Amino acid sequence: MLTSLKGKSVIVTGGSKGIGRGIAAVFARQGAKVTITARGEEALKQAAAEIEGDVRYEICDVSDWDSVKAMMDSTASAQGGLDVICANAGAFPQTKIVDMDPEEWDGVMATNLRSSFLCVKAAIPHFEKQGKGRVVLTSSITGPVTGFPGWAHYGASKSGQLGFLKTAAMELSRYNTTINAVMPGNIYTEGLQDLGQEYLDTMAASIPLKRLGGVEDIGNAALFFASDEAAYITGQQIVVDGGQIIPESLEAIEEI
Ligand code: NAP
Repeated sequence: MLTSLKGKSVIVTGGSKGIGRGIAAVFARQGAKVTITARGEEALKQAAAEIEGDVRYEICDVSDWDSVKAMMDSTASAQGGLDVICANAGAFPQTKIVDMDPEEWDGVMATNLRSSFLCVKAAIPHFEKQGKGRVVLTSSITGPVTGFPGWAHYGASKSGQLGFLKTAAMELSRYNTTINAVMPGNIYTEGLQDLGQEYLDTMAASIPLKRLGGVEDIGNAALFFASDEAAYITGQQIVVDGGQIIPESLEAIEEI
């Protein structure tokens, strides 16, 4: 049993859907005050109403500095400070390199990687004031560990988050703040549903635990990194993938 996060002030970017919504639900169930953020207000409003607990929302584009700073400041003011940021928002358009416009590359980098930097930068004054803080990044196995055609930009952005993490961990230590990353495998979300049933079935078959992960599997890992028990862990990453990256070959998975 982890020490309670009751009353802690938490932000989850990309909290209107998918993994972010799952992370928000896990923290809200613990009694934390949770702000979910995204660009689309309808989905945010619906998620904030449906997630059980103390949940509010703010519209924010994580690739835009002014938007991130304003969201961070007004959330800290509404929730009486800031304890935990889950920088989770991300996008994964699938386009092979040969067909990819440079603008698409830049857009994915901005949403997935620039956003990690912007969230941490905007949070520092709040963590400094609070005397401590926690950051949890949502990276991926795609990029740092595996590859998939169409996701060169996505994989590069997710590896980039882990590169950012190491130096950020050193710089944030002076604010008594830790930063770690969760690396999900294939998690069942609205975003993944769009890739089609055939993709989902093939993926499930390639995972030793024979199912896609649930959004709360990632929420639980984020909760651990945010807990008092994880106070001495920083600059680290954890894969949450049902064993997906383990099999050496198709034959290995068929042997199970
Ligand atoms: P999702 O269901 O598509 O949800 C993405 C969330 O991010 C939405 O709330 C979306 O809301 C928000 N978002 C996207 N672009 C944004 C922007 N520029 N500014 C603010 N919010 C933005 O995706 P997901 O599958 O839950 O993925 C969440 C994170 O997990 C991503 O970082 C992804 O790379 C990572 N991940 C997912 C999987 C998986 O299997 N699902 C696996 C590995 C890693 P709006 O569009 O309204 O802004």
